Amino acid sequence: MGASVAYWLTRMQPGLAVALVERDPSFARASSALSASSIRQQFSTAVNVRMSLFGAQFLREHGIAFNESGYLYLGEGFDAAHAVQKANGADVALLSAAEMKRRFPWLNVDDVKQGSLGLSGEGWFDGQNLHSFFLGSARKQGARMIYAEARTLRQNEIVLDNEALRCKHIVNAAGPWAGNLAAGAGIDLPVRARRRTVFVLSCPTKLERCPLVIDPSGFWFRPDGEVFIAGDEPAIDEDDLPLEPQLAEFDEALWARMAHRVPAFEALRVERAWAGYYDMNLFDGNAIIGAHPSRPKLWFINGFSGHGLQHAPAAGRGLAELILHGRFVSLDLSPLSFDRIVERKPLVEANIIG
Ligand SMILES: Cc1cc2nc3c(=O)[nH]c(=O)nc-3n(C[C@H](O)[C@H](O)[C@H](O)COP(=O)(O)OP(=O)(O)OC[C@H]3O[C@@H](n4cnc5c(N)ncnc54)[C@H](O)[C@@H]3O)c2cc1C
Repeated sequence: MGASVAYWLTRMQPGLAVALVERDPSFARASSALSASSIRQQFSTAVNVRMSLFGAQFLREHGIAFNESGYLYLGEGFDAAHAVQKANGADVALLSAAEMKRRFPWLNVDDVKQGSLGLSGEGWFDGQNLHSFFLGSARKQGARMIYAEARTLRQNEIVLDNEALRCKHIVNAAGPWAGNLAAGAGIDLPVRARRRTVFVLSCPTKLERCPLVIDPSGFWFRPDGEVFIAGDEPAIDEDDLPLEPQLAEFDEALWARMAHRVPAFEALRVERAWAGYYDMNLFDGNAIIGAHPSRPKLWFINGFSGHGLQHAPAAGRGLAELILHGRFVSLDLSPLSFDRIVERKPLVEANIIG
């Protein structure tokens, strides 16, 4: 998010002095480096559908590898979200169990009534490439990197380890750690770091035209080259758990459900696993983009709740517009403003994965 905002700011206003403060040049724990890098239009909130459509267009226009194999949601009761998606330009189709069986013969749909499939603009992409595009372009356009820990955000300055950085505007783009940084500035930002494990799995059987599948029981999987990756809702979901993959979750909770959905998965083997933090907005599962009403020059771009990488192009552009022009110009992101948190008016996103 920080790299995207810096990219858009320096693109919209060449010569603008922009600094990116980053404590870890390796990005080893950053969510953007530990993400499943997938993109969907299948949200229940209109603004999320529109941000994803821009994300897909951005990937194509900037030559970022993008496999448009779609998402397949399994379950029932998709009609309301489908209407929101179609009204906002998404290319999605509702499928009966028989239609799913025809398209995906390897899938068990005996206990599934309905499917919702993205026909284009959905799938997975090279997330590292998107991040390096934003970071590299922002730097070429004049943004400066400062490798330091931001300790506190004050009115007009960021307190670093050994100095204070004076600035007109401050953007909190601290991902899953954004709540801590906001708290130090006296602001209650309901964003918490919630660990998620991604399993890398091998399977001797290939699944033809396999999309990213969302199971009604809460897990997801998708192909990743020659292997599969998968994740699940964790049994224990507390703040700031150590960033260690929970290998036991596969045998205990996941394998049997995966083999039920795809009988060929009986032969799955865990190759490895990693863990990253979801940037969970515990208030309503949606991003928070904009200034706090009491601090007009302290900006937030947080709480993407596990679907932020795909929204980075639209979110960064929107926040840059807000900072430079005082309003959204290309896509209205005002439903995601901080005001709704302060006013206790949730904009609930129903389609949070895992
Ligand atoms: C397992 C997993 C799967 C996911 N799958 C998807 C997916 O398929 N599609 C999707 O769109 N999204 C997905 N996401 C979510 C997505 O990765 C995040 O929403 C997004 O990357 C958040 O980006 P960010 O820039 O806000 O945070 P980050 O990438 O975490 O960046 C925050 C940066 O701030 C730095 N920082 C924090 N605090 C400080 C400080 N005090 N001082 C200095 N630097 C600081 C950190 O070092 C870090 O580099 C997934 C996330 C996880 C964990």
